[in-house]
Amino acid sequence: ESLINRIAAGEIIHRPASALKELLENSLDARATSIRVAIKDGGMKLLQIQDNGCGIRKSDLPILAERFTTSKLKTFSDLSRLTTYGFRGEALASVSHVAHMSVVTKTKTDSCAWKAYYSEGVLIPPKAGQTPDPKPCAGNDGTIITIEDMFYNTPTRLSALRSSSEEYARILDVVTKYAVHNPKVSFLCRKAGSPTPELSTSPTSDVGQAIRLLYGHSIGKELLHVEVSSTGAGGSHSRDTSADDLDDPERWSAEAYCTSPNYQAKKIVFLLFINHRLVESSSIKRAIESVYSGVLPKGAFPFVYLSIEVDPRSVDVNVHPTKREVIFLNEEVITERISDGIQQKLVGQSH
Ligand code: ADP
Ligand code: MG
Repeated sequence: ESLINRIAAGEIIHRPASALKELLENSLDARATSIRVAIKDGGMKLLQIQDNGCGIRKSDLPILAERFTTSKLKTFSDLSRLTTYGFRGEALASVSHVAHMSVVTKTKTDSCAWKAYYSEGVLIPPKAGQTPDPKPCAGNDGTIITIEDMFYNTPTRLSALRSSSEEYARILDVVTKYAVHNPKVSFLCRKAGSPTPELSTSPTSDVGQAIRLLYGHSIGKELLHVEVSSTGAGGSHSRDTSADDLDDPERWSAEAYCTSPNYQAKKIVFLLFINHRLVESSSIKRAIESVYSGVLPKGAFPFVYLSIEVDPRSVDVNVHPTKREVIFLNEEVITERISDGIQQKLVGQSH
């Protein structure tokens, strides 16, 4: 059975960067305003994330790494009203099957932090002869998750990984994208033991500013801002006012920051968030590329950040979490409206 669990876990956690994506989403779901990541050997030796979010109750620790354990579904009817993709309760369980995992966590009302070790979905003793129960320890409000020796027991996954510098680059890429999307959260990413972080952000006013800071001046000075929504242009677009506030499954909004034709790169950089989750959609990407193919010379590509909010009920929840390609209601209409919005801005630029 443990082999089957390992294989299933490897389907969810492909590499250090995919584990980190899950952990980042958990920290953001916990409303962290500060997230620090430490990496050793491309995340294979060590992947550690520290947040100042709500923490995990001690009573929840024994079942934390059990499959389908999630605090994000209160009743069955919530299944159709998911505000986060993180509803499956599979991420931490999966990690515990393919790596050594420990958690230090403290809620605001706890008087101390608690530390727990996991393997194969359950609490384990930190040392031989000890009990598996969480142990009290010193710690700040929030959660530290430490993952060591990823895929030590899944050699096929391990052998599919690239060099540690390539895995590190993928990690940095994921952190950078989430830092763009969450400009009010401070992010830090560094190699363990290194005094200088590769990435460090302090809270900024908006996504445009975050793009300037993280992707540089040549992109930053050419950014166009586009907002479209089901109710016309604009509309609020933030974590706090989600699209389902008005209880209309047809309601949506989208915000893009994309470069003018003055910016020409050899490859497209495309950041897509749907309901605050980093996802992929080849159909949306193609649509935007075709808009740009009308204004850019052949072989030149833009930078595009796009955030779409739709009613959580309209996102296909049956798509497996590893399939980062998402499907949602009215996808064609929404894509067309976004493409038109970008097109108009680009045309307005070209004279
Ligand atoms: P899901 O995110 O789908 O609920 P996970 O396996 O990612 O499942 O996490 C399981 C549960 O652990 C979450 O529902 C949440 O209650 C808790 N959790 C995980 N990470 C954190 C964190 N950084 N801060 C607070 N709670 C967390
Ligand atoms: Mg999660």
